[in-house]
Amino acid sequence: MSELRSAVEGLRTEDLGHLSDEALEEDLAECQRAAEVLEAERLRRLAEFDRRRPYLRDGYLSTSTWFARRFRVGFGAAAGDVRRARALEAMPHTREALATGQISSSAARMLVEARETNPQAFAEAEPLLVDAARRHVVRDLARVLAYWRSAASAGHEPGGDEQALRERRRLHVSPTVFGLVRIDGDLDPDTGETVLTTLRACVDAELRSPDPEDRRTPAQRRADALGEICRRWLDSGDRPEIRGERPHVTLTVDVRALRGETGRRSEFEHTGPIGAEAARRWACDAVVTRVLTMGRSEPLDLGRRTSVVPAPMRRAVVVRDGGCRFPGCDRPPSWCDAHHVVHWADGGSTALANLLLMCRRHHRLVHQGFRVEMTRDGPSFRRPDGTILEGRDDPRGPGVTMDADAARRCALAGAG
Ligand SMILES: [Zn+2]
Ligand SMILES: [Zn+2]
Repeated sequence: MSELRSAVEGLRTEDLGHLSDEALEEDLAECQRAAEVLEAERLRRLAEFDRRRPYLRDGYLSTSTWFARRFRVGFGAAAGDVRRARALEAMPHTREALATGQISSSAARMLVEARETNPQAFAEAEPLLVDAARRHVVRDLARVLAYWRSAASAGHEPGGDEQALRERRRLHVSPTVFGLVRIDGDLDPDTGETVLTTLRACVDAELRSPDPEDRRTPAQRRADALGEICRRWLDSGDRPEIRGERPHVTLTVDVRALRGETGRRSEFEHTGPIGAEAARRWACDAVVTRVLTMGRSEPLDLGRRTSVVPAPMRRAVVVRDGGCRFPGCDRPPSWCDAHHVVHWADGGSTALANLLLMCRRHHRLVHQGFRVEMTRDGPSFRRPDGTILEGRDDPRGPGVTMDADAARRCALAGAG
């Protein structure tokens, strides 16, 4: 083992700056091959350890829990490694191909997953499938394995494999560092199809009116879409109540943080502290419960829950604006928050003249550098550099101004 360590140490101290491009590529290829072979050996040792189970004497209940604790990796990652190590023990051709660098560990991982569909059928087909893994890039291999899977499950009693697939469903959602949340899982075909359809519909709805300044990647769009779908669900009125109220996103914030004082408490229930401007954005259009505290956290008095923007006022804003008011945006009211042009924490009123419908993305922008002010001709938007934002047609046309009373009458008529 010390030879391995000194070999790695040799690599570590090597100066890469003097290598030519070709030599660097060859060097990288060598490292890649070595890493794959090392991975195969790591899993072989893990399988042996899993057979002997020496951790039982310390009270660990499984190889995965021991592994996660011993090497400080997430339980999901540890369980995945153990599952792969066990499976490879029964996959001699895959193991051999991985150990000799003929297939990548990504391909081996896909073969392990394919085997879970039907281990007996896999044992028969393994030489053929490993050969496919040798010849194809990962994307084509995925297609080959998908065909094999459907063929392998065709010979079984109807519904049998469906149940097996369903048993593999899992979803892990956990906060990580800096308030990021990691999502990882496998969905059964029914749920997966539903999720894919919903995400695609949500992304497509946005793409119908593409924004030329929108630089988001497809993956970022999907992440935003998932958030939007979840928010809609939280906003819908027919959800079950839990412990006397409908669950909602909870933000605890010191009112002085909303006024821009730094170092004041402002945190989400699950992911922890958030920035002051993000807190101001959430507070623009929220249900607020006032909590008087003694010191930092001891509650003295709880106020009633009140909406920052009462329902009739919101309907009036919806009637007047019809959707997001950011230039060029036509997202409908259900995608929008009511933004306070002058924030209520700064003394701004919750009146029609101080409220604007903004979709979630544009609401974020006006709290992050873009500015908006109310003028006699309606809202005027400025870029972070101070220039006026114009030149993009308002898809609803110019005639969307309405005085407050007219809007209120419309809203009441609509609500009646
Ligand atoms: Zn706002
Ligand atoms: Zn918008």
